[in-house]
Amino acid sequence: LNIIEKADPELFKAIAEELYRQKNTLELIASENIVSRAVMAVQGSVLTNKYAEGYPDKRYYGGCEFVDIAEKLAIERAKEIFGADYVNVQPHSGSQANMAVYFSLLEYKDTVLGMDLSHGGHLTHGSPASFSGKFFNFIHYGVNKDTGTIDYDALESLAKKHKPRMIVAGASAYPRILDFKRLSETAKSVGAFFMVDMAHIAGLVAAGLHPSPVPFADVVTSTTHKTLRGPRGGLILAKKDYGKKIDTNIFPGIQGGPLMHIIAAKALAFNDAKTLSFKEYQKDIVKNAGVLAERLMEKGINLVSGGTDNHMMLADLRNLGITGKQAQDILESTGITVNRNSIPFETQGPFVTSGIRIGTPAITSRGMRSAHMLLIADLIVDVLKNPNNEKIKNKVKADVRKLCNDFPIYPDLVCPDLE
Ligand code: PLP
Repeated sequence: LNIIEKADPELFKAIAEELYRQKNTLELIASENIVSRAVMAVQGSVLTNKYAEGYPDKRYYGGCEFVDIAEKLAIERAKEIFGADYVNVQPHSGSQANMAVYFSLLEYKDTVLGMDLSHGGHLTHGSPASFSGKFFNFIHYGVNKDTGTIDYDALESLAKKHKPRMIVAGASAYPRILDFKRLSETAKSVGAFFMVDMAHIAGLVAAGLHPSPVPFADVVTSTTHKTLRGPRGGLILAKKDYGKKIDTNIFPGIQGGPLMHIIAAKALAFNDAKTLSFKEYQKDIVKNAGVLAERLMEKGINLVSGGTDNHMMLADLRNLGITGKQAQDILESTGITVNRNSIPFETQGPFVTSGIRIGTPAITSRGMRSAHMLLIADLIVDVLKNPNNEKIKNKVKADVRKLCNDFPIYPDLVCPDLE
């Protein structure tokens, strides 16, 4: 940090303030995590200087012998963790992983079945605001109104009716186990490719806590920065036959030079993901989410689908008379960070919404366990039920600060002017 302060004091201030924010707030955004110092260090290494267009041993630049080692490590480790035949570690993001797969397997305007954004799907699963919805004819499936869980029968009817070229499964806000077997059977029955975007649950899959999509899907995409706790980036796993097409659609199809410093950090994160302690960490994420969800429900918070099987839950706030945006803002003022989120059959716009998404990957990384989940649930409920009570909000703020102090992050990184 000293180096940054000397080089650019104005930028340094923003980074120091962000560090201070991360140290002193409870991060409950389900897609975020707190990476190791080693993952950060690799991203800041000399590998950032290197151009390496192409793939290991087939580069368009000289001097790639060492970055080749890093990329091969990332590939081999991802293959091992997920039991995949083929791996591409070059996508700069989850969105680019999805784009490359669509460009590899689909033609312009092909019909694709994907999960509705407001039912938990991702923008790249066919939102009209995303390239996916502009280039392809996405038809959307969703959850059952009564159960909040995916209506697999309705999905199958849509598949039979629309004969899609691909079915996309996976979600950004779905708290239940996905039935990859059933989905793959549906895809097979209509001659569609089956793609799974496991971005959110990749860590759980790596640890064997969520069924793996790999045996069932033609292609699996992911991010590496959510439950998997690596650097920000994307990942593609596939059956061997698709490998060549996907490689050329990533580079030169939609990307230029790979980010070798990020790929190396992926390799390091994948190495972590092979350890027993990573498995324990993933178990704790799921256990924490379960405890948090139960307590929230006991205290009158409605959760979509009535709970969670994974790392996250979706609270439907309509019975409290506040919107997702209001809830996000009030919680933020007390040091609890969540994101507003559409709920199935949403009636509010995407900037307002009726829900919030709550996840446990980051607070579990800090070392918090069941007793802390009970406390955090109580703090959330206190704030949401008393949005105008300054006394309660101040007490919550103090409790949040104490929790953060009890479970410090990056103790060697200090923000002297802010502490
Ligand atoms: N797929 C899913 C299911 C996601 O939740 C996300 C990110 O939230 C993405 C893809 C996109 O990842 P990125 O933000 O790296 O483009």
